[in-house]
Amino acid sequence: MATPTTAGTNDRKPRTLLVRNAALLATMDAARREIRGGGLYIEDNRIVAVGPSAELPSEADEIIDLSGHVLIPGLVNTHHHMYQSLTRVLPAAQDAELFGWLTNLYGVWSRLTPEMVEVSTQTAMAELLMSGCTTSSDHLYIYPNGCRLDHSIEAAARIGMRFHATRGSMSIGQSGGGLPPDSVVEREDAILADTRRVIEAYHDDGRYAMLRVAVGPCSPFTVSQALMRESAALARSYGVRLHTHLAENVNDVAYSREKFGMSPAEYAEDTGWIGDDVWHAHCVHLDDAGIGLFARTGTGVAHCPCSNMRLASGIAPVRRMRDAGVPVGLGVDGSASNDGAQMVGEMRQAMLLQRVGFGPDAMNAREALEIATLGGARVLGRDDIGALAPGMAADFAAFDLRGLAFAGALHDPLAALVFCASAPAAWTVVDGKVVVREGRLETVELEPLVERHNRLAHALVAG
Ligand SMILES: [Zn+2]
Repeated sequence: MATPTTAGTNDRKPRTLLVRNAALLATMDAARREIRGGGLYIEDNRIVAVGPSAELPSEADEIIDLSGHVLIPGLVNTHHHMYQSLTRVLPAAQDAELFGWLTNLYGVWSRLTPEMVEVSTQTAMAELLMSGCTTSSDHLYIYPNGCRLDHSIEAAARIGMRFHATRGSMSIGQSGGGLPPDSVVEREDAILADTRRVIEAYHDDGRYAMLRVAVGPCSPFTVSQALMRESAALARSYGVRLHTHLAENVNDVAYSREKFGMSPAEYAEDTGWIGDDVWHAHCVHLDDAGIGLFARTGTGVAHCPCSNMRLASGIAPVRRMRDAGVPVGLGVDGSASNDGAQMVGEMRQAMLLQRVGFGPDAMNAREALEIATLGGARVLGRDDIGALAPGMAADFAAFDLRGLAFAGALHDPLAALVFCASAPAAWTVVDGKVVVREGRLETVELEPLVERHNRLAHALVAG
């Protein structure tokens, strides 16, 4: 139906994509509509129409038939350290809690190279995209041997993922009472200067932006109070978001009380790390006063259930946070503390873990999906992703319900996606472009990527 554009004119017709006949379309729109036989009509990178397939246009430049599939908004990952894909399941760090785990890994990570950042970012993104995730943040806080945030930004552009790159940092080494060895920390003036550089070079605050930059001192036990304050002021002077780790486990809370005489939430407030432009990873041990503070101020949380179980950090009070009105998104966390970056699996674990902690009605499948879509969008400060509605970005994922995992579960196909064994995405579309087609990654050749990633992982650990 598209007519060729005339060279030299500006009246280019939009490229159109029609998606139709989904067994079930979960819109996550304001009315939470679920449409049997539903579909989407897309122009370039945005959704123009959503509804029953019969009510959509019948032609387009590309048509995808989703019979037998469940169609959902692209999942949003709000916390990750993609370089850690190189150190999954490292024997010395398999069975430790947070501080011991970090101490066993810092030395290995100090050998990270720019090529390793680039390849591990693509590997992590491939895994996310193939599990229906279309937007991810990444928190890169270690910059040895010439590594720069630019290396992960370039990797994201090549694979086609919507990306929130966080310029992390560590400035207090062991000699200053911090946890990391001095060899992996940076000078605070250099951190702030490089943070300014990447914001000015890359941050896009426009609607449908494929790339945004956030500011992220790693944690209260790796940077000074001054750097926390200055980072917050710098982020706000540019209107970019703030991200760090908070109240991850009991040792983290004890460090805060001992060193600062404050609870993690009080420390966050004292240093300017409260507000609707801030999101904190974990918050497993956020107390009631902290939950109230986060709710009043719109401060966000990235909930990372697999990592919290893996490191025995505890069960984050997501039920209480949500009831109080705290914005909560979902995060896979770094691959070395989760060892997987499968977003559907993460939804499942979020639902199951709340039940272990707080009873069978603590979270249902639809709420887990809401946290992984609308919740993540809010935590990242976006109103153009997380739902399928006219005017939203054309980011979606579809899962084939006809396979073994869903056999006998089609009474409720949407809940099946969360309850059953975590399925790979059959289709993942980001910004109107097909990135995963019938289960295959289209933008990067997977086999050579994995081979290269394994080679680099071996070299990193062997030293
Ligand atoms: Zn983390």
